[in-house]
Amino acid sequence: MFGYGRSNFTWNGTLRELETSCPSFCGERVRPIMTATPISSGLEVLLTSLQNVCDIESTLHILNVLDELLSAGSDRRIYYMISKGGSEALLTALINNARCFSPNYAVLVPLLHLLAKVGLRDRRIGLKAEDAGAVLLVLTLLKQNSHHARRAAACLWVIQVFCSSVSTANLIGENHGLDVVYRLNSSFTTRHLNTIKAAIDALTALLSTKANVHVAVCKGYVAGLLRLYEDWHSKDAEHAAVAIRTALLRCLHQATNCSAARQALVSQGGISLLYQTTQSCLLTKGLESLVELSVQLMRKCLTETSLPLMSDQSVYSFPLPGRPDGCPHVDVGTDDSYEEDSDEEESEENQEADSKDKDYDDDLETDLNKLRSRPEPDRPKELLAQYSRLCPELTHDFQELDSGSEPEESLSSSSSDEESWLLNGSPCCRSRRDRRKSDTSSPERRPRCGSDTSISSPECLLGKLNASGERTPVVPHFEPCDFHSQSRVLSSSPMFWMKGRTAREYATSGEKEEGQDEEEEEKGEEAHHRTMVDRLLERHGTYVPHHDPKLYRAASALTKSIPGFSILAFPDFWGHLPPPGHEPMAPRKPKVQRQKVFEDVQRFLNPDDLINQVVFDLEETSPQCVSDRPDSLRFFSKFESGNLRKAIQVRRYEYDLILNADANCSQHTQWFYFEVSNMMANIPYRFNVINCEKTNSQFNYGMQPVLYSVREALDGRPHWVRTGSEICYFRNNFCPAQDRKGETFYTLTFTVTFKHNEDVCYLAYHYPYTYSALQSHLEALQRSVDPAKVFFQQQTLCDSLAGNPCPLVTITACPSSRGWRDIHQLRNRPYIVLTARVHPGESNASWVMKGTLEFLCSSEPVAQSLREAFVFKIIPMLNPDGVINGMHRCALNGKDLNRQWCKPDPVLSPTVYHTKGFLYYLNSIGRTPLVFCDYHGHSRKKNVFLYGCSVKETLWQSGSAVDTVGVKEDPGYRTIPKTLDRIAPAFSFNSCNYLVEKSRSATARVVVWREMGVLRCYTMESTYNGCDQGIYKGLQTGTRELEEMGVKFCHSLLSLRRDITALYSKKLINHIDLDHNVLDHNSYNCFEDDEPPCVEEIEYSTNIRLRLNAPELDSDIDGSTSSAEEEEEQHEEGHTGGNHDRSSNSESRQSSLKSRLFPYLIEQGSIEKLNMKRTTCNGVTVANGPHLT
Ligand SMILES: [Zn+2]
Repeated sequence: MFGYGRSNFTWNGTLRELETSCPSFCGERVRPIMTATPISSGLEVLLTSLQNVCDIESTLHILNVLDELLSAGSDRRIYYMISKGGSEALLTALINNARCFSPNYAVLVPLLHLLAKVGLRDRRIGLKAEDAGAVLLVLTLLKQNSHHARRAAACLWVIQVFCSSVSTANLIGENHGLDVVYRLNSSFTTRHLNTIKAAIDALTALLSTKANVHVAVCKGYVAGLLRLYEDWHSKDAEHAAVAIRTALLRCLHQATNCSAARQALVSQGGISLLYQTTQSCLLTKGLESLVELSVQLMRKCLTETSLPLMSDQSVYSFPLPGRPDGCPHVDVGTDDSYEEDSDEEESEENQEADSKDKDYDDDLETDLNKLRSRPEPDRPKELLAQYSRLCPELTHDFQELDSGSEPEESLSSSSSDEESWLLNGSPCCRSRRDRRKSDTSSPERRPRCGSDTSISSPECLLGKLNASGERTPVVPHFEPCDFHSQSRVLSSSPMFWMKGRTAREYATSGEKEEGQDEEEEEKGEEAHHRTMVDRLLERHGTYVPHHDPKLYRAASALTKSIPGFSILAFPDFWGHLPPPGHEPMAPRKPKVQRQKVFEDVQRFLNPDDLINQVVFDLEETSPQCVSDRPDSLRFFSKFESGNLRKAIQVRRYEYDLILNADANCSQHTQWFYFEVSNMMANIPYRFNVINCEKTNSQFNYGMQPVLYSVREALDGRPHWVRTGSEICYFRNNFCPAQDRKGETFYTLTFTVTFKHNEDVCYLAYHYPYTYSALQSHLEALQRSVDPAKVFFQQQTLCDSLAGNPCPLVTITACPSSRGWRDIHQLRNRPYIVLTARVHPGESNASWVMKGTLEFLCSSEPVAQSLREAFVFKIIPMLNPDGVINGMHRCALNGKDLNRQWCKPDPVLSPTVYHTKGFLYYLNSIGRTPLVFCDYHGHSRKKNVFLYGCSVKETLWQSGSAVDTVGVKEDPGYRTIPKTLDRIAPAFSFNSCNYLVEKSRSATARVVVWREMGVLRCYTMESTYNGCDQGIYKGLQTGTRELEEMGVKFCHSLLSLRRDITALYSKKLINHIDLDHNVLDHNSYNCFEDDEPPCVEEIEYSTNIRLRLNAPELDSDIDGSTSSAEEEEEQHEEGHTGGNHDRSSNSESRQSSLKSRLFPYLIEQGSIEKLNMKRTTCNGVTVANGPHLT
């Protein structure tokens, strides 16, 4: 309530009563309308009257009534008033009252107050004010009243709301409004705080435009604001003016949305000032808003720094066939494609933000014909015959069942001896020597990628050998350091030894052809090495089911990597057992990120305290960049699935880590896996992965990286365990080495305290699962099954680009006899096709697949009945090269393979091309799979869930006009997720959806559904983190839970057996009750984060747009109104008596006028300082005194 003016009018009645009591408001003209709709027309009457009445009394009456109407109830009344032309009416009244010779402020001030309140909620207020000619009028009023606190405040609030329009803000700026407002900012005082805050807020609003920020920077206002903040901070000891200090920081935030302003802030010592003020604020409660704003401001203004790399391009490049120059595919500047490449399971932020306000998602396919259409096959039918070899179960005659003899061919690897496997090659793999020959015979077809094995390592090895003086040491007892990456024990290739030993000979005698004696020596070395491994296992060996270190080593010797890895990572070699018990999600330490930011700011403030020494560089040719500091950690990543490009020691116990981009490209850094050694026990080491790309991460929501300790493994605890404290993920100030301007990275920071001195440890993004692990696992499985019961066959689907065989496994039950009936049953079993690991960084998918494979090979009754019901076709690793070379997203062609399914290239995407070909083949022989599921990992969500495809749900969700009642669809696609929801603890039905997005039209799920007509076609997503529901709620997933998920998926297939009967007894799909059970779950398009906004700001984005805070402005205005009388008095007092020193000379008149308003002027010294900085800064000086027009 205002209570303005002498009459002190208040109104508590209805408009109808108002009409009777004040008939002068309501002319005859409008009365009939009022009777019809009293409220609306009453308001219109008031507004019309406001614009027409001239006498002060009436105007005040109307303002009072309006204010009363609007302050009661919600904002809806104000919006209603705006819709009835309220803003225009107030503007007209303002002009009418202000244009007279001596404006009456008893009317103008309440009018301005009301205008500010209404304008705040009117998006178009700026433009309306421009049209009415009110903008410069208010500015003039402000100039005329800069000595009058209350009037100035009223003008400032109005200016603030006018600035919601860019053109209005610029208009005020062009008319020197910026200077007028800036000069009303005052150094510390205890009086007129409301007006000072209004001035700062108005300045903040003005600085929302680039043009105004430019002016502010040129005039040195950034420096001025900083000094003001310093002044208020140091003198506001009672913390009575926190609102002003906050407003100043917000103003600086707004100003620093342009880079020149950020530079100005930095060059004026702003970072140091903010850092110091923040540290002292931390000591006092209730200053949270100041700390938070300061931290963000510091991060925002810190100078961008390029990553210390020569190039963002991956260290690993692979010459692609069909590119004669052998140049790797360069994808610098493919930001757009990266956006598109976003995960099957993840959408980029912009998309989310855009779609949030909408009722539906643009990305959903709404064209029924497109949803229904079945594209022509991408290849001629003749090409499909080649895939008949991948269905041996259809031709196998099972003679062995009769004779009782051993199964033939591949099933007969009874030579269960890994040595012979190594020498002869597994049934599906050529031996290493064979491959070497084929490599040299057709180099252009199969580029050699493993030939430069361990160029760097022999020297180091040689050094070690020389030092120890013996070549074949007997290892009586193993210490973790024996398993350092440079140690001989972990060499995978016998060639490694030979090369090491003969390196010197090569050096002296030049080129030496590989010959017979080498082969022999190789065998000798090999034998020696085997002895060592045997002893090791004898002494320390543990039992890891389906894992054999010797098998692993043998498998890895056949694996082809780009750099030619010759060293095994100990965990892969030795094996992993899930630790006993569950691992809860890590609690987030309060304010941990703030602490990290402070540490990062200190780098900038005290650069001399930094060590900044590179301690590991993947590109270095020397074996290891060993730092001259003996207490530095050592890093290594040149092994399968390893990813660490560079490690820089920043402080004594802090390291920056840079990840390697996917091979042949410059992006997709997320996966990491590296070795670290030379640590001291019980010291917290901080690690910062500084070139992460995703905008948020589960690391902010309880996820931890994993660690494997060699010491622990040798002591009988071979576990990957979740580790790390003080974990957080936020935007940093590093930008790419080249191009991609304005883009910065994110930091994942975590602290590890190692348990043992001198241990060798491995740290990874998630539980590693290498290609060699898959190969040795398949070998172990094959040996484990009973060939009389289980038909288990490993074949090669095709070779990957780098020449690694992509295995396809067939699992089904052997028929119980060779009788026609049994064979017929076998050959009519429905097919289930499972694939995994198309995205190499999603190692969780491999662990789920491991669970599936082991279960299907097991003697469990459920497994037996599944084998009898189905034929399983499993391609467990669609992207071997990506996995081997430590990539996260792509294949060697630099492309996301899960976006290639529409028209896969036979040469560049062979695994997808042939998987699709195989599915076409099954289709062509009438054996379309009953289920297709592609296993993935999800980095931004919890739980495990499925994505499927449904025409009906897509149409519903998209808001399509198509009448879905007539659309027939078999709801059978819901059976598996529903079953999983009941039986799999990690599974969440509510996270599933069945929507067909345009952006995912080239994924396996959509293409197999659409082109092959597979109804039950899924992507299975497993979290990297853990669960937020069910019995695993609050726990991180381990490999045990992931494997269990693979088992439960198999279990869920049992639920299909009833459906099968229905399907295969030729019942028509139309007979199935379509709406049965379908509507009980609303399928949301939930590709975006599940997570609430992070507790601490992740982004320090440079274009934060500060929103006008309506409640705050309202309360500022109301505060001013309530203290109106008091200020009026003060003004009178200043005018008549003069409580401050007054000077009679005209020069100081202005300052004395001002001093009544702002008793403590900015000290002369600091003004000079500011002026000096302005001139040195930009050579632009500001005239003293306000510009009056
Ligand atoms: Zn994926």
